[in-house]
Parts: sequence; structure tokens; C-alpha cells
Amino acid sequence: MKKEIVILIALILLGCQSLSSEKEQKVSFIQLREKMVTEQIEARGVKDKRVLAVMRRVERHRFVPQEYQRLAYRDSPLPIGEDQTISQPYIVGLMTELLRLSGDEMVLEIGTGSGYQAAILAELAKEVYTIEILEPLAKSAKIRLKDLGYKNIKVKCGDGYLGWEEFAPFDGIIVTCAPPYIPKPLIEQLAEGGRMVIPVGEYYQELKLLTKRKGKIQEQSIIPVRFVPMIHNERRGNPVNKEIKLPSPKVKGTISVEETISKRRSRREYKDEPLSLKEVGQLLWAASGITAKWGGRAAPSAGATYPIETYLLVGRVEKLDSGLYHYLPSSHSLIKVMEGSRPVDGMGGDLRRQLASAALGQGMIREAPITIVLAAVFQRTTGRYGKRGIRYVNMEIGHIGENIYLQAEAMDLATVAVGAFNDAAVKKLLRLKEEVLYLMPVGRQ
Ligand code: SAH
Repeated sequence: MKKEIVILIALILLGCQSLSSEKEQKVSFIQLREKMVTEQIEARGVKDKRVLAVMRRVERHRFVPQEYQRLAYRDSPLPIGEDQTISQPYIVGLMTELLRLSGDEMVLEIGTGSGYQAAILAELAKEVYTIEILEPLAKSAKIRLKDLGYKNIKVKCGDGYLGWEEFAPFDGIIVTCAPPYIPKPLIEQLAEGGRMVIPVGEYYQELKLLTKRKGKIQEQSIIPVRFVPMIHNERRGNPVNKEIKLPSPKVKGTISVEETISKRRSRREYKDEPLSLKEVGQLLWAASGITAKWGGRAAPSAGATYPIETYLLVGRVEKLDSGLYHYLPSSHSLIKVMEGSRPVDGMGGDLRRQLASAALGQGMIREAPITIVLAAVFQRTTGRYGKRGIRYVNMEIGHIGENIYLQAEAMDLATVAVGAFNDAAVKKLLRLKEEVLYLMPVGRQ
């Protein structure tokens, strides 16, 4: 009996203690928030009184995972799960100020993330519509914003590249992930007199302010920034990703294997002519095509683990827009994963030029009508063979490379296997998760 009373008293005391420490924590968060606004946001030139007041009020620590709460008022972005981040407080302040909200605006946000930016906007505008492409984030932001009592925020899971037609036009559009160029649907959904704040670019991003007057867009660069890339046109079952069937490959040629082997050379110069869809299909089939009913492929693979994914960078191919495509062996087709040109942002230029510069300036990549990009998911093979699997993947890339060489030679095409490039730069440019091992530009001899 006595023992139980002691435990009870201990529990009560403990309870009081945690209550008082919660209070202390609350006070310290208020102080941290004050310091954040004064030292990081006001000091750097954000002047809008309403923006500053809201940032003093909204509890940023409620928008980050438990383990980062202590860091919520730091001068930096923070992880929020799914490889995404909540933006640096200053950037939130700056972007919000640029929208010049007075209270009756309809605002569209692309990239809900934690919901913090949406909450700030909701206190300054009439209605906030926010789109997040990653479902877990969209779900948790929706719950968080509801729990915090926001009634003027609508969260949707979807591709923000397309905007939110149903509620357009918007007086303000704020984009918190970076597309390589300004998405056309967003320009269309901006109201007359409206303002859009958007980071644009791949390696080098610029924060831009766009205003629409008499239907015309005026663009102003604000500062260089660093945001996570806007996900678009990737393999997410996105309806934009139309599958393009390739012509069936030939399995009989006019030149013998012996002749092809004896003629094969690494060729770095190509005629300035486009390739046909048939030629492209033939090359991809020789690389990774299915050649047996049970799924066997053109090149041998350890334990049929098929760790190599084949991508095609198109510069000039008949009936194919420029861009990056993913080859699907099972249906012998292509799926576009990335646009090849930057229609709005004049700075971006073409993907081929950017790939050439990521490949240490090797000009033939810029000139070639296509470059086949071979990338590995090592885990598929190491999952079965352990560390030795790495060796098997490296062998397989050789088999595939040689097949492309021989198929190209047999069609009077020219190619070279490029292994020298900046791994991180190439991966980032093409937004690939796999490890890129070979770049093979192909053109006419
Ligand atoms: N505004 C957020 C920060 C977001 S980080 C905040 O206050 O916490 C950028 C977010 O954009 C990420 O969550 C990412 O998943 C999302 N995103 C990327 N591409 C997108 C797209 N096409 N449509 C909508 N959201 C996208």
C-alpha cells in the first residue's frame, strides 16, 4: 500500500515537472521566433509589417519532425521526410513579401511540403490552394493544417506543374520547388495584375518574380536560390507520360558478325542528320531488348537480374521531340521523362549541351542526334550476389556497350562509349536515381 502511494506521488511530481518544462519550452520557442524574425528576416531587408507579424506568430516548430523541433528557428532549411525540406525562414519571408498580399487574394502554392508556407499565406490572403506531389507529405500536411485550425487552405495531392485549373485564376502563385523553366499552365492561371514567385533552373536557380499586365508577363530576377527540383513527367503514372511504341526490330541484317567486328571503331564525329525511329528502336533493342519469350535479353545478365536501365537522350530523331526517354524492354517502347528544351527560360538551353558540359565538355555529345545513357541499379544484382554483384554489373555494362557498338556499325552508324564524366552532375541533370555508367552518343557516319 505504502509503496503504491510513493509511486503515485512520484508520478504526480513528474507530471508537474513535464508541464512546467513544456511551459518553459513554449517561452523559449517564442523567443527563438522573435530572434529568427529580427535577425534573419528583418535584418536582410524584408519590410512588410504583416509578413513579419505572421512569421512571429506561426509556430514553425509544429511543421518539422519531432527530432528537429529544437532547430526549427535556425537560419536554414530542414528535412521533413521523403527527401524534402522546409525552406529557410528568410526565403519564406522574402517570397511571401514579394506576393504583396493584402487579404483578399486567391493564392496557389506548388510544393506543400510541411504546410508551413501555406499557413503563413493563409493568414495573409483569403484562400490558399496548395498542391503536393508526394502523397505522404500531402496527407500529413492536410492533417496538420486542419489540427491547427486553418479553414481557408485546400490541399491536393497532384502534379503542381499543371496548376489547379478548377480554382484559377490566382492573384498570387508561389512555387517552392524548382522547375527547369516556367510551367505554361501556371502562367495561364495567373490573374491579370497577379504576381508569381518561382525558383527557376537546374544547377543554378534564380528566384523570379513575374507580373501579368494586360496579358503580358514581366519577369524580374530576385536572387540566386537552391530549391528541390520540381518533379514532373517522371515515371509516376502521370498521364503526360504517353508510351511511344518503337518499330519492331529486324533480326536479319546484310552484314556478317565477322565483318561488323572487324569494322567496329570508336567514332566521335557524326553527320548533322537526324536518326529515324526505326534506327533508334534497333539500337535500343540491341542494348536491352527482349529476345526470348521468357524475357531473356540481348546482352547476358548475371542470374537474369538485369540491373541496367536504358535511357535515351534525344536531340534529333524523326517523330520524337527532344528530351530524355526511358526505354521499356518488355513493350519495346519509350516513355518521355524530361523535356529537352526550355521554351520560356531562355537561359536553360538544350539538354544535349548541358549533358556535354557535365561530360567534361566532350563536344560529340552536343552534336550527336542521340545519346544512349546506361545506368545501373546495383542493388538488383548485389541483392543476390553480395559484393561480387558489383563486378557482374560492370561486366554487363560492357556486354551492352559492345552490342550497341556492333549494331551501330551494322547500320553504318557511329558511336563511342564515354565513361569520363562528372557522375553527380550527370545524375542531377537527368534527375536519375540510378548510377550512370556509360554515355553512348550515336549519329550517322
Ligand atoms: N513549401 C514547403 C517546402 C516545400 S519543399 C514548406 O513550407 O514546407 C518542395 C516540395 O515540393 C516538396 O515537398 C516536393 O515533394 C514538392 N514537389 C516537387 N515537385 C512537385 C510538383 N510537380 N507538384 C507539387 N509538389 C511538388
